[in-house]
Amino acid sequence: MRCLPRQDKRPGMEFPLAETIPTTIYDIAIIGGGPAGYTAAIRGAEYGLKVALIDNAPRLGGTCLHVGCIPTKALLFNAEIWDHLKHAAEFGIASIGTPTLDWAAVLKRKDSIITKHVKGLEFLMKKHKIAVISGNGKLTGPANAGVHTVEVTAAGGEASQIKAKNVILASGSSAKMLPGLQPDSTVLTNIEILSIDQVPKSLIVIGAGAVGVEFSSIFRSFGTEVTILEFLPRVVPVEDEEISKELTRLFKKRGIDVNTGAKVEKVEKTATGVKVSYTDANGKPQVKEAEKVLIAVGRAGRTENIGIEKTKVELERGLIKVNEAQETAEPGIFAIGDIVSGLPQLAHVGSMSGMVAVAKIAGRPFRPLRRDRIPSCTYTEPQIGSVGLTETQAKEKGYEVKVGKFPFAGNAKATIVGNHDGFVKIVSDAKYGEILGVHIIGPQATEIVAEAVAVLELEGTVDELMFTIHAHPTLAESMLDAFGAVQGMAINA
Ligand SMILES: Cc1cc2nc3c(=O)[nH]c(=O)nc-3n(C[C@H](O)[C@H](O)[C@H](O)COP(=O)(O)OP(=O)(O)OC[C@H]3O[C@@H](n4cnc5c(N)ncnc54)[C@H](O)[C@@H]3O)c2cc1C
Repeated sequence: MRCLPRQDKRPGMEFPLAETIPTTIYDIAIIGGGPAGYTAAIRGAEYGLKVALIDNAPRLGGTCLHVGCIPTKALLFNAEIWDHLKHAAEFGIASIGTPTLDWAAVLKRKDSIITKHVKGLEFLMKKHKIAVISGNGKLTGPANAGVHTVEVTAAGGEASQIKAKNVILASGSSAKMLPGLQPDSTVLTNIEILSIDQVPKSLIVIGAGAVGVEFSSIFRSFGTEVTILEFLPRVVPVEDEEISKELTRLFKKRGIDVNTGAKVEKVEKTATGVKVSYTDANGKPQVKEAEKVLIAVGRAGRTENIGIEKTKVELERGLIKVNEAQETAEPGIFAIGDIVSGLPQLAHVGSMSGMVAVAKIAGRPFRPLRRDRIPSCTYTEPQIGSVGLTETQAKEKGYEVKVGKFPFAGNAKATIVGNHDGFVKIVSDAKYGEILGVHIIGPQATEIVAEAVAVLELEGTVDELMFTIHAHPTLAESMLDAFGAVQGMAINA
């Protein structure tokens, strides 16, 4: 039986009896309409394939669009404007009085950005004639005569089946919780915190990965007393050590209480909020109270209830094992995005893994994802943008490493925008001068890093980059100075 695509279900439309409809065999059925799934769907259609996209949320877009990348970056932009307003007089903008924050309007703007992009996605699905199907998708087992069957259960409980030659699993991830805790209006995950009705006076953030530090940055800008409790010895632990150190220094300067090596023992609700007991880095028991607590201790892949137990699909620490073409161990079944093992859980990784899987299905050329070519961006104040090997990783891989570092303090555009904090650090191979990693913390780091990604992708060397013209005055010029710094020849430091 053919399942009716979501865009066809308009009131008043007449459908023929299900029995009279010949079964559609799609080239690809995709389970999950987040950035991994919808990108794969569009690329599939661009290759001329017949694609069905199954999603169980009320609207397409997944974590990224609804409770991840987009809403957090919207709030961070509000925070940035708010921070500028605090220093308006420095920029010669006088007599603006005391600005007040209309939190409801902040949330409304965030929601309108989401809605705009949901509509954009819906338009793209129609444009590419992708069958969007509402419901929970589940594999029924291996393919039968080369055709897979996905069972789809709609929100109302009605079940139907989709037939496809290939299935792409793109069900994404959810926030991990600490044992015994349930999210509510005090104990928050990325979902609840994005719609709290007012800015909390105090917030404890457990976990200092990208999600934890971004929310810390947002709420600190809005005046919240923020305490970070991180189990590992440093914040943003996947970044170069010097980046973690600089973020800690600058967060502390902003009044954020950063505690690393802190082992959370207990989270209890109180009459006024929450009490967190933890053991500090010196092994001493500590207690901290706040109005709210954000649990940001990582993301679990949604691998349950998608039917993989009936297939040869293999798991690795709760995530799906794939080869370089995103194929699982079950023929015709691919996995992309946050449910995949061995790749960072980022939207751009999800979308590119989708494009790789679909190219493989379409028999088109593709380039497998390389972990050391994936940019990592953290949109805190200060921002972080990095790609490639950290200094430690490069040494561990046996490179003789040569490092160049240039502080934004020497960059004219940084002076103009009033933000001198941070630096650009280049990790290069001493023998051939190949750039192995670029680590930026400071103004617009998440934009400047795009150059670094291209440099690594094209295997650029220090000598080449030292003679690459960068426009003046730009923040990107700090890259030129950092490449020069590798040879001890930065101009502006
Ligand atoms: C607070 C926060 C901020 C973030 N910021 C960034 C950022 O700035 N940049 C960045 O690159 N990444 C960011 N991320 C990570 C990013 O959101 C994820 O990497 C990305 O959303 C993963 O995409 P995905 O398509 O794999 O999964 P998801 O976006 O999680 O989408 C999966 C979709 O599948 C649906 N689904 C699940 N199971 C089924 C099923 N059985 N049947 C049908 N549908 C199903 C879900 O409802 C969902 O719509 C952030 C994450 C968080 C939490």
